[in-house]
Amino acid sequence: MIRNFEISTKITLTYAGCFIFLLLFIELIMYAGFWLALYRPAGKTIDFSMEQVKPWLDNIAQDVSAFDSNTFRQPLVTGVVVRVFDDNGILMADTDPNYLANEIFEDSKLDYQPFFADEDKEVALIVNALVYRAKMDYFFHGEHFTLYFYRTITSEVILLDKLKYLLMILDLFGIIFAVAVGHFMSRKVLKPIKIMTEHAQNIAYGKMDGRIEINPTDDELTELAKTFNNMLDRIQGGINQQQEFVIAASHELINPATAISTGIDFLKHYGFEDKESFNENVDIIFSEIQNIGDILQNMLFLFRTDQNCLLLDKENFDLSYVVEDVMKKMKRDAKAHNFELVKNDFVNIYGDKKRIRQMLRIFLDNAVKYTPDGGRITVTSKNNNGTVQLSIADNGIGIAPENINRIFDRFFRVKDKALEKIYGGGLGLSIAKWIADNHGIKIDVESALGEGTTFTLTIAEAPISFD
Ligand code: ADP
Repeated sequence: MIRNFEISTKITLTYAGCFIFLLLFIELIMYAGFWLALYRPAGKTIDFSMEQVKPWLDNIAQDVSAFDSNTFRQPLVTGVVVRVFDDNGILMADTDPNYLANEIFEDSKLDYQPFFADEDKEVALIVNALVYRAKMDYFFHGEHFTLYFYRTITSEVILLDKLKYLLMILDLFGIIFAVAVGHFMSRKVLKPIKIMTEHAQNIAYGKMDGRIEINPTDDELTELAKTFNNMLDRIQGGINQQQEFVIAASHELINPATAISTGIDFLKHYGFEDKESFNENVDIIFSEIQNIGDILQNMLFLFRTDQNCLLLDKENFDLSYVVEDVMKKMKRDAKAHNFELVKNDFVNIYGDKKRIRQMLRIFLDNAVKYTPDGGRITVTSKNNNGTVQLSIADNGIGIAPENINRIFDRFFRVKDKALEKIYGGGLGLSIAKWIADNHGIKIDVESALGEGTTFTLTIAEAPISFD
């Protein structure tokens, strides 16, 4: 049942429980120590007196008149009273006739032996005093005598009882105090958690501006608040990124969609009237549909990388073969440009062949797109003692210095009237960068407006394995 309690109740109960336990434990020890301190000296003085009386009686070796009350006091410890009776019940000696009468002791004897009392002694409670009595048999000149030793344990029983009740009332206040302090403490301790819960409840999608106040004290809750705030920052960052991605993606898809709808609109109105315009519009529609397909494919690729679910299938392979193959295809696809493979050293690398090919294709496609027809595109792959420098250079339009650092950002496209006609979704280089990063490949860019651009990839050679 306790398991289902609120944490604040659990803290209160635990705190109050510990406090009460400690209070009662201390009181119990004090109580026990107190009674022990009363019983023990009383018991000891009787024992000691008894031990002394016996040899003293043996020594005096006189007649019955030896039981003289005055001489009897000699072997006794102060506070101990002795009464001697013969077998007829006649009082032979009494060291203190004013002390409690024997009959009263008999009448007031406790039926039970108190916890701290010696087993060989009797205890009587008379008004407000506790009295001990020990019995001793003695044979004197063949006659049997009974000696009773008395000693007051305490004469303050009523006061002590009152003290007991006072302590109980104090305990009650202690319990109330412990519960109140426990409740206050638990509220104080849990306050930041409560605030965090409220914050978490108020967080709605895209409305995460609130943060928990960080206390100057550097305790565990501050750490929790910091972690919570950091988590919100990260979630908000992720949401912002997603929103930006969706906005940019929609933006990129609007252009081809508009071009398609304009083309279809034209076909609807003019149909086959002008064969040349008809063909031109069908071409536009076809290429824009292809563009949409490319954009969606690239978006899917990046989405998968973001979700960490794009797996690389790495193996050892010869990079020069891939470079040569990609170049062959480029020559076939982009006939308006001049391609030259200046150098293509054999080099064994470890990576995902399909993705390395995709990355090279992105750089080469860009070189074609951003280099006017008739331009030159050169590829050089040099193996320098285990480090390959693979460069893709064009003599195209180049990139302005202020844009060079941004070309790898998602959806970034240089804003230029002249570039509007060149198709692009702004995702190619982000994909190339992801592939490079996941293969430990470094990318350097050199570019000058109107002169051209060179991308240089630095790739580590992998040792050839023969298995
Ligand atoms: P896009 O689909 O627009 O080509 P990328 O991510 O591949 O997207 O490239 C981002 C931008 O970098 C391009 O829009 C272009 O402005 C610039 N860029 C990339 N490669 C070249 C290049 N070889 N020459 C000039 N500009 C380039």
